[in-house]
Amino acid sequence: MVVDFNRTVAYMCPGCGDMTFGEFSLFELSGERGISVKCDCGKSQLKIFPKTKTLYSVSLRCLVCDEEHEFDVPLIDFMRQSCIDFSCPDILIGLAYIGKKEAVMDAVKENDTYIEEMVAACGLEHTGKNGITMLKALDKIQELSDDGNLTCACGSAMIDVDVLEDELVLECCMCGATVSFTADEIRNGNFSDISEIEIQKSPESAKDKN
Ligand SMILES: [Zn+2]
Ligand SMILES: [Zn+2]
Ligand SMILES: [Zn+2]
Repeated sequence: MVVDFNRTVAYMCPGCGDMTFGEFSLFELSGERGISVKCDCGKSQLKIFPKTKTLYSVSLRCLVCDEEHEFDVPLIDFMRQSCIDFSCPDILIGLAYIGKKEAVMDAVKENDTYIEEMVAACGLEHTGKNGITMLKALDKIQELSDDGNLTCACGSAMIDVDVLEDELVLECCMCGATVSFTADEIRNGNFSDISEIEIQKSPESAKDKN
């Protein structure tokens, strides 16, 4: 049997929400060097770098919680395991897979199915690859609402949330004013740091309503 030194990397890009693929050879991990796989969108990369001669670190920004996660992996695992998976500690969604091509592809497929089911269970099947991003955004909106930090300039705190394929729309139930966030803004802006949303009254939407 021929020993295969090539390994495939797959990770969920926090910048665009797509699964990103790359390849490297185990020889590239020898010595002091590391490797990185970048997404075509240019907004993220997964890095594998040595901590010691026998221990490596895999790091990437998380699509789910926006933090940088770092996982320790013994070099021997890269050689022996057919597929190593990395999940966000907060939520059991596969963020990255590294291993032999076939095993990685299978794991990615399985994870896609799992995510699709979870997203569909929340009624968001129409959001496609933005499913996780929208779930995350809804969680944030809920938190703002619970804390009384989601309001409209008209004085109302009755806000309707509409999730479109790649956009989240907030609409005041009283005056009809709206504000929206695209999936891209949610992933790459400071959405998770927002502490308060006050929807501004817009003259036209107020007119429609009455
Ligand atoms: Zn990307
Ligand atoms: Zn995370
Ligand atoms: Zn209003």
